[in-house]
Amino acid sequence: MTAAHPHDTELADRARRVIPGGVNSGQRSIPGLADLVITAADGARFTDSTGREYVDYHAAFGPPLLGHNDPDVTAAVAAAGRTLDLCGVGVTPGEIDLAEQLCELVPSLEQVLLTSTGSEATFHALRVARAATGRRLVVKFQGCYHGWHDSVSLNVISAPDRVGRHDPISTGILPEVLDATLVLPFNDIEAVRAAFTEHGADIAAVIVEPVPHNVGCLLPDTGFLQALRDETSRHGSVLVFDEVITGFRHALGGWQQLSGITPDLTTLGKAIANGYPVGALGGRADLMQLFSTTPGAPAFFAGTYNGHPAVVAAALATLRKLRTEPVHEHVFALGDRIRAGLTDVFAELNLPAVVTGYGSVFVSYLMSGPVPRTYADLLRNDVGMFIGYRRRLAEHGVFELPLNLKRSHVSYAHTADDADRLVEATRTAVRDTLAAGGI
Ligand code: PLP
Repeated sequence: MTAAHPHDTELADRARRVIPGGVNSGQRSIPGLADLVITAADGARFTDSTGREYVDYHAAFGPPLLGHNDPDVTAAVAAAGRTLDLCGVGVTPGEIDLAEQLCELVPSLEQVLLTSTGSEATFHALRVARAATGRRLVVKFQGCYHGWHDSVSLNVISAPDRVGRHDPISTGILPEVLDATLVLPFNDIEAVRAAFTEHGADIAAVIVEPVPHNVGCLLPDTGFLQALRDETSRHGSVLVFDEVITGFRHALGGWQQLSGITPDLTTLGKAIANGYPVGALGGRADLMQLFSTTPGAPAFFAGTYNGHPAVVAAALATLRKLRTEPVHEHVFALGDRIRAGLTDVFAELNLPAVVTGYGSVFVSYLMSGPVPRTYADLLRNDVGMFIGYRRRLAEHGVFELPLNLKRSHVSYAHTADDADRLVEATRTAVRDTLAAGGI
C-alpha cells in the first residue's frame, strides 16, 4: 500500500513484539502490509483496524467459497457448540455423515480421514504411499504447493536460476529428504516418462495440483493427467491429486470429476468447511486401511483436533449449501464477468496481459500470450506491475493479494456490482501504476 494509507501501527507494533514478524503465517508476511490489522469480516468484505473496508478477492487463499461468516455455517457451528465438544475418543454422527458425503461426491474416495489442515493431508498421503510401496522417492511439479512439510517444501515460486534444480522454500530440511523428491515441469509428459524410465522402481508417489493454482492458474494440457495416471499405474506408484484448492471450488467432485481421471489418493481442505480448519485425505480403501486408525495397521495417523465437531458442522453446512443452492453457477458467472472485464481493461490500456483462471479463480499475468502452460512461462510475468497495481487496488477498497503469481477468488457473497467495481478499480490502479513507471 502507498504511504497515503493510514495504518494502525500501535496494534501492529504490539503484534510484532510478541509474534515474530507480527503475523501467524509466513504467507501473511507481505511487503507493504506490515501494519494491516483485520478487525471484521463479513460476506465478500473485510475491515481493517482503521475502519477501511475492502472487497476481498484474496479470500484467505481460498476457503470461504460461500463468503466470510456465512450465516448458515455460523449457525451450524454455534449449534454444534451447544451440544457437542471435542472428546477425542470414538466418532461422532457428524463425522460419519461427512465421510459418507465426501465418498459419495469425490470419485476416488472409497474411504476418507479428516485432518485439521491440507498440509497434514498431503503429509499423510506421502507417508502412506511410502508405507504401501516400500519406496523412497516422490515426484512433485515446479510451481505446485502442497504445504509446509519437508518432502514438498521445494520449487514453488522459484527464481529463474533455480528452476530445474532443487529450490527449498525453507532452511532446516535434511538434504536426504530433499534428495528423495524429484521435481518435474508441469505439463511435460516426456519429463514424466523419462523420470519413470530412470527411477520407476523407486517412485512411491506422484503428487500434483491438477490445476497448479499456487502460481495463479496453469491448466493441464489434454493428456497430461492421463499420462500421470498411466505411468503411475504401470510402475505401481501412488497417484495423489492435491485438490486442496480445486476440491469443491471447481466442482463438488473436484478436478477429478471434471477431468474423468481418478487418482489413488486425494487431498482436500480449504473450501470444504468454508474457512474452518479442515483437511481430508481419501482414496483407495486398501491404501487408507494401512493407517493406524485400523487396529494393527502400520502407518501412524493421529491428530488431537481431527474431526472437531465445530469443523465438521461447518463442513456439513457448507456441503448442504453447495448441494442445494446455485453456488457454482453464481461464482462461475462472476468469474467469467471479471475475466471479460479485465481483458477489456488491459486491452484498452494497451498493456500485454493474460487474464486466465477457472470458474471462481482468476489471475491477470502481466505478460504477452500465449496462455502459460508451465512454470517457466510465468517467468515472463512483469512482477513490478503485478504487485504494483494490486497495491494500488487496495487504495480503492478492493483487495487482491500483492504477491507475485497469487490467484484471486470469487465467493457466493460477491455480487455483479462487486465484480464491476473490481474491474473499474483495476483500470485506475493499472493506469496509475503505468504512470509511476510500472512499480
Ligand atoms: N495443498 C495445496 C494445493 C494448497 O494450496 C495448500 C495451501 O495453500 C496446502 C496443500 C496446504 O494446506 P494448509 O495450508 O491447510 O496446510
